[in-house]
Amino acid sequence: MTTTMDLDQGSALLHFTRNGAFGPGKTELLVLERGEGPYVFDTHGRRYVDGLSSLFCAQIGYSYGEEMATVAGEQLSKLAFNTLWGTAHPAALQLAERLADLAPEGIDRIFFTSGGSESVESAWKIVRQYHIANGQPQRMKAIARNIAYHGVTLGALALTGVPGYKEPFGPPAIDTTHVSNTNAFRNPLQGEELTKHLLKEMEQAIIDADPETVAMIIAEPVQNAGGCLTPPPGYWPGLRELADRYGIVLVADEVITGFGRLGELFGSTRVGATPDIITTAKGLTSAYAPMGAVLVSGRIAAPLYEEGRTLLHGITFGGHPLCAAIALKNLEIFERDGVVENVRAREGTLQQLLETLRELPIVGDVRGTGFFWAVELVKGDSNERLDADERERLLRGFMPGRLREAGLIARADDRGDAVLQIAPPLVADDAVLEEIVDAMREVLADAGRQLGLQAGGTTQSALTRS
Ligand code: PLP
Repeated sequence: MTTTMDLDQGSALLHFTRNGAFGPGKTELLVLERGEGPYVFDTHGRRYVDGLSSLFCAQIGYSYGEEMATVAGEQLSKLAFNTLWGTAHPAALQLAERLADLAPEGIDRIFFTSGGSESVESAWKIVRQYHIANGQPQRMKAIARNIAYHGVTLGALALTGVPGYKEPFGPPAIDTTHVSNTNAFRNPLQGEELTKHLLKEMEQAIIDADPETVAMIIAEPVQNAGGCLTPPPGYWPGLRELADRYGIVLVADEVITGFGRLGELFGSTRVGATPDIITTAKGLTSAYAPMGAVLVSGRIAAPLYEEGRTLLHGITFGGHPLCAAIALKNLEIFERDGVVENVRAREGTLQQLLETLRELPIVGDVRGTGFFWAVELVKGDSNERLDADERERLLRGFMPGRLREAGLIARADDRGDAVLQIAPPLVADDAVLEEIVDAMREVLADAGRQLGLQAGGTTQSALTRS
């Protein structure tokens, strides 16, 4: 019998992880066993500030367990499970109503899933059935953006724009064109000039694919992979115009930006987007249970309600009563405890704190919105990119351990350029935000020293020396 202290990787295959990295004489696996407010604690009792909200999920942090347990207990004692396959249960119906009330104007049909990838795939299948019902079955193609992450199941993976994640798995399930994302760092075009350029590229991609064959455009309001890539002004209204001009369905993937992350319940509202479909998961339950939802406009869903037509898609656990009850409670807590308001009140403070990191030579850019931010790591004042070897040694070798030592959970990532990302629980106060940025400063200063960077210039790299 193992005690909690003894727990190691054992038989578990960890997701998106080098599974051979752990064990005696290697990296110690971080095993978290307890949470409190914005903090999590490992099996040795060490405390970490969760600067990433458990992969963008824990919107309300970790102190609502008892309240959630009460509604979970009530639901489980009443009805543990029923599907939404031709029947229903009150929790899912009530949650659908609530989401329809909260969603942007015109979006009022809700399809439940168990997570983000399923939401994205379900959106695709709903889009396809919309076009078929409209006499346009030839609309089989999608347009997504470079480096965007939309999930890993084979349909969602086709939309994902990270080549390394796709290559081992053969031809994509959906014929997808990937266009530029909205990364403005190092881009000579800025603001409206950048918008014009990106929309022109998008339109050309539609034309090249043959407009009559394009079913869907999918994008995140603020793209996560690549490091919190905010859209330039007018970008989303421009996407809407293109989608309307060419009869394409516009999907906002809000698996991360949904439920307050950008300081609005839906990130679409924050960036001026009016999508036809919003995909969600993660924050819907603040991760107190696994659940996703696809929010569909009445226009796109209308054919699915026609007499005699069957929605050819279903997921056994989609809309599970336990998860639905927890999601309802989560939304109640959002309103009662002013969760989104907290983000709006403190996002300026968070930005100001993060901007001070620019004084470190390793920090080239600071970007984001709401409680969703990234700093880009560079080789000093020239803003030169880290090369592959430096990224490997710094982001995968040095930083994970150093972040842990500093008591901070944050994400060092290089699916695009090298970034350190944070997404604090939406209930964090100023002291917690300061704690996060202080720890980032400490780690980034050390990371800069690893690169041999001193304020004002580049010197020999400790990484290339070692
Ligand atoms: N879409 C976006 C924008 C995401 O960030 C993610 C996951 O991080 C997904 C889809 C896939 O979600 P899941 O991991 O729940 O399948």
